[in-house]
Amino acid sequence: MRHVELAREIPSLNDVLMRADIGVLLARYPRDLVVCSAREVMGRLRQPAMRHNEADFRDALAKLGSDIAAEIERECRPSLRSVVNASGVILHTNLGRAPLGARAIRHIAEVAAGYSNLELSLETGERSRRDDHAESLLLRLLRLKGTITEGRACVVVNNCAAATFLVLNTMAAGGEVIVSRGELVEIGGGFRVPDILSKSNAFLKEVGTTNRTRLADYERAITQQTRLILRVHQSNFRMEGFTERPALAKLVELSVKRDIPLFEDQGTGCVAALEDHGVTEESSFLRSTGSGATVVAASGDKLLGGPQCGLIFGTAEVVEEIRRNPLIRALRVDKLTYAALEATLIDYLTGNLDGIPVTRMIALRGEDVRERCEALAGAIENEDLQTKVIPSRSVIGGGTTPGATLASYAVAIRHKTHSVEALAAMLRQLNPPIIGRIKDEQVLLDLRTVPPEADEVLLRHLNSGLSN
Ligand SMILES: *Cc1c(COP(=O)(O)O)cnc(C)c1O
Repeated sequence: MRHVELAREIPSLNDVLMRADIGVLLARYPRDLVVCSAREVMGRLRQPAMRHNEADFRDALAKLGSDIAAEIERECRPSLRSVVNASGVILHTNLGRAPLGARAIRHIAEVAAGYSNLELSLETGERSRRDDHAESLLLRLLRLKGTITEGRACVVVNNCAAATFLVLNTMAAGGEVIVSRGELVEIGGGFRVPDILSKSNAFLKEVGTTNRTRLADYERAITQQTRLILRVHQSNFRMEGFTERPALAKLVELSVKRDIPLFEDQGTGCVAALEDHGVTEESSFLRSTGSGATVVAASGDKLLGGPQCGLIFGTAEVVEEIRRNPLIRALRVDKLTYAALEATLIDYLTGNLDGIPVTRMIALRGEDVRERCEALAGAIENEDLQTKVIPSRSVIGGGTTPGATLASYAVAIRHKTHSVEALAAMLRQLNPPIIGRIKDEQVLLDLRTVPPEADEVLLRHLNSGLSN
């Protein structure tokens, strides 16, 4: 049959809207949404290419109703979706870094669903400051871990980049900030220390060289204009060989001796003992806050395992100044962040480390992961897949612990006909999408980063979801 004649078989929009199956959609959704989706699907049907193959065309015509329903569903689906992270990277920046624990989720749901005392003192009935939330819990946790917190305070902002910016702007705008050339780094996602510095209106005074900076280099650079010594944790890379930089304690001594405040951008927010799991090099928020540095900043959603936010810990005077900086209004966090952060801090305080996904996943033994991998691989009945369980290394990630890995296991999968890239893409198209890691022409599924209750979802998908 000729193209033109086929085109005549496409019904009018009015006819489509009269169909019984579309009537069902009209009863469920607003008319304009159904009309819009119907137009979209019929537009595709009208494209000349659709009519090259009569069988395909008739097929599409027959499926018009279900295609319109599918189109509505597709258009009303959020673009931000939950995925199964089987990459073995615990803090995967592209996958939203730290998943939250059950207590945090419960607290978010509670606070989100109703009203809260976000800026109301329940004692006096007067207005209070939102930035008081989380402060006492964070200070209590630090005190519990041995940090001296008298005369210290905390404030929470949107992320560690905001924290760094706000500290620099508050403490050093118009003056000089001394930084080692070895720490003028890019943290990731375009966060470059020199750029943040210049936007904060502070002037950068570089000292030392890329690989070596000595205490004397800092000391020599101090002038009347110096407002701050900045230390940046080299979180996402490691320098080896002929390198040197003063210990944080030495910078603290210098800061006290010359009366110049010291600010450490610690980054990872680690308050757990990673040494127990063979990760030894990590700097820690505890050591930093206990070091005597004037101010320390860290992320909430890296090793702390909480929501995206930036923690600022420092002397009460400096934190008060930061609270008075008008920019804090633009960098503040919302009630859901406080809810999640407070719940995470309570998990630490009450010793519920298994309740925080990040600390739980770091603590998993390789053997536990192997058992789950074997159970999963043993239950796969999909003839198109070749699977085996292999040892692998999980990564903590998120710009933390460069080079440190955890012994783990993975289910390695190959597809009989598709390439490894095609297989990885098919896994991403599932609902929920599965994110694996490609290595040696196989897709690796490292179950360390998969919550045990999702093993079943993985199995179902691998057995029946990859049918084409
Ligand atoms: C990760 C990191 C940052 C940026 O933190 P965000 O919370 O992503 O803004 C800044 N500094 C250091 C040292 C970091 O490790």
